[in-house]
Order: sequence, then structure tokens, then C-alpha cells
Amino acid sequence: MIHPSEQLAQLGQDFHRRGWALGTSGNFSAVIDRDPLRLAITASSLDKSRLSPDQILEVGADGTPVGTQQGKPSAETLLHIAIVRVAGAGAVLHTHSVWSTILSDYHLGHGGFFIEGYEMLKGLEGVRTHEHREWIPILENSQDMPSLALETERMLKENPAIHGFLIRRHGMYTWGKDLAEAARHVEILEFLLESVGRRQMMEPQY
Ligand SMILES: [Zn+2]
Repeated sequence: MIHPSEQLAQLGQDFHRRGWALGTSGNFSAVIDRDPLRLAITASSLDKSRLSPDQILEVGADGTPVGTQQGKPSAETLLHIAIVRVAGAGAVLHTHSVWSTILSDYHLGHGGFFIEGYEMLKGLEGVRTHEHREWIPILENSQDMPSLALETERMLKENPAIHGFLIRRHGMYTWGKDLAEAARHVEILEFLLESVGRRQMMEPQY
């Protein structure tokens, strides 16, 4: 397969330009091999406006670097590995948009919220109608990545049909069978989150 470094770097720059991964926020990965697991993932603390292919590292199933590339993998590597394992994802993308940050705070008390009735839902894999109800779970934020990864695994097992989730006052995770599908899910979910958020500002009970 083509090594995903180039595509991951381009996605990072694109997401920065669209306000979904400002500064050093966000991280992106793609599966290179499943057995044993090898993942290409962005290095930690990089400005996403200048992300380049040589800043993409390779990690193994425990999240430690395995390739020749120098650098420290993203702090959130264990979450990417949890999603690859439990959801069977081929690529995982994590953004820090304004709308995911606001909505993850507003709806935390209910553990998440539904998005339903929007035509754009049909951009999510397997969804055929705007009448689909998409549950968006929210996890409390933490800097303890091993425990947040365990929490992510538990939540994914409880919600096998979801396409993404939020972390409170932090951002969104989504994934796909490959990078193209995962990138489409970012676009679709970011559109839906912004639509729901703006609608709620007009009518808070919405
Ligand atoms: Zn993050």
C-alpha cells in the first residue's frame, strides 16, 4: 500500500485551514499493518499548518515508536489504538473544532446527544436516510491517557453503531475503513455539529 504520511500531512494542513486543528491541536493516524499492528500517526506538539510527511511516525500495538523516524508520538496515540482495535477502523482523525468543544460541554450531563433529521447524515457510512438518529457520546476529558483509552474502549463496545464521539471541552474523534472515509466523516460531523450548535443558539431547548 502507499505509505499514508503524505495524505496525513495534507489532511492536517487542510483541517488547520478550516479551523478544525488550530495550533498544535488534533492528531491523525492510519493503519499500515494489522498483524502485528502498525500505525502511522502524527508526532506530538506539531503546528498543523506546516505538517509534513517526515513528521508522521510509526507506532506498534502498545503505542511506542517502531519506525526509523525520530520524534515523540501524539499524546493521544492510545485512543487511536483503542478505536482501531474496537471499531476496526483503518484510519482515525481527531479535531479540536469550536463546535465540538461547545457541544461537548453543553450536553455532558446526558452523556451525549442525538443528531437526527439532517440530510447530511447520509454522508456517514451505512446511513441511507435523513431520518437516521446518530448518537454522539461524550467522555469527560482527562490527561490520563491509559484510563481515557479504557473508557473509550468501553464506550465503543456499548455503542457499536456510532461514527464518532466527543471529549468534553476538547474535541471530536471519528474514523473510517480508510483515510478517505474518515476524512469524509470529519467533514460531515463538523457540518452537523455546527448546524446543531447554531440552531441551539436560536432556541436553547432545541
Ligand atoms: Zn486532542
